[in-house]
Amino acid sequence: MVIVVGGGISGVACAGELNARGIAVELLDRGHKLGGRMASRVIRDSGTEYDGHVVDIGASYFTASAEGFRAVVDDWQVRGLARVWTDSFHLATPQGVAGVRAGPMRYAAAGGLRSLVADVASRLPSTRITSNHSVEVVSFANDYLIVDGKPVAAVALCMPDPQARAILDSKSPELQATIEATCGVVWEPTFAVTAVFQNPCWVPFDGVFVNDDEILTWIANDGSRRGDDAPVLVAHVNPVLAAGHLADPAAVIPSVLAALQRILALTEQPVWVDIQRWTYAKPLNAWADECYLDGDVNIGLASDAWAGGPRVETAWQSGAALGKRIAERLAYPA
Ligand SMILES: Cc1cc2nc3c(=O)[nH]c(=O)nc-3n(C[C@H](O)[C@H](O)[C@H](O)COP(=O)(O)OP(=O)(O)OC[C@H]3O[C@@H](n4cnc5c(N)ncnc54)[C@H](O)[C@@H]3O)c2cc1C
Repeated sequence: MVIVVGGGISGVACAGELNARGIAVELLDRGHKLGGRMASRVIRDSGTEYDGHVVDIGASYFTASAEGFRAVVDDWQVRGLARVWTDSFHLATPQGVAGVRAGPMRYAAAGGLRSLVADVASRLPSTRITSNHSVEVVSFANDYLIVDGKPVAAVALCMPDPQARAILDSKSPELQATIEATCGVVWEPTFAVTAVFQNPCWVPFDGVFVNDDEILTWIANDGSRRGDDAPVLVAHVNPVLAAGHLADPAAVIPSVLAALQRILALTEQPVWVDIQRWTYAKPLNAWADECYLDGDVNIGLASDAWAGGPRVETAWQSGAALGKRIAERLAYPA
């Protein structure tokens, strides 16, 4: 039995590769639902007709350039789970929208990005999944790797490095190399502010990259992303501002609403607002290697801090690579 800790996209990709090689997995996630940073929520009690609308409050979209992930996305599209969103976003300065930039095709999901992780998880043939389970400590004693007191053949930590570091027993000499491998990447925070309006009160757009603004970095039109045209915006807060308010995210909401008004020239105020904190939203840099597997102990790391990060598709690649490496290690022990 291999333990995968983390039920985001890298964790389910890792479990999939292990299962494909005949290795049973126990996947543990501390959230009440899988998905991690591919997070979606349902709007409730907004007093509008948009109650029930799903909104993406973590990753905004995903790209699909890596070959292995491309096949997964094709399958999601065929089954109606993923949809092409757009290849063009607007650009803005603090003064307002200033142009359009084309880029790679971006994909979204009608059921929210979380639904895609849930789909992969639901199709894992030999993975036992437990949500609401926080792993407290991974240690090493008497030649055994131990997860919360239970000896395991191998463990994959599929999550941001600081979260992995927090559960690695710093007193185990055998885990020092892994702890060190969690230390090379800097992570930045953000908050995602969801604003529901009675009507669309902006010039049509899909998404806006906001440059040089002290409050916002990005605004998504969630109705366009979802394909139902609901008047719902999601704004991401400048990491510097977020870093200063990790203990009180709600304090930035007035500034965020003022920035939305300023940049998009809104003609109405939102009727419902919510905020989601992401302490470890994205790695600022990333390792070129796809994942980490310790040379001596069967413990590995995967996330968007690997494979060139910081994207959904690199997290997938990282998790899949770790699953393969652990399977090879268990089949051919050193
Ligand atoms: C606001 C925001 C915007 C983003 N925008 C984009 C974008 O537009 N495009 C893009 O490609 N990427 C984007 N990303 C990045 C993308 O979301 C990530 O690259 C990807 O989702 C990472 O997946 P992961 O599985 O590696 O990690 P995560 O999704 O973080 O999963 C880690 C999981 O581990 C669990 N966990 C942690 N500690 C424990 C523990 N002790 N015990 C049990 N479980 C634990 C967590 O609950 C979580 O579910 C964005 C991220 C954020 C936050």
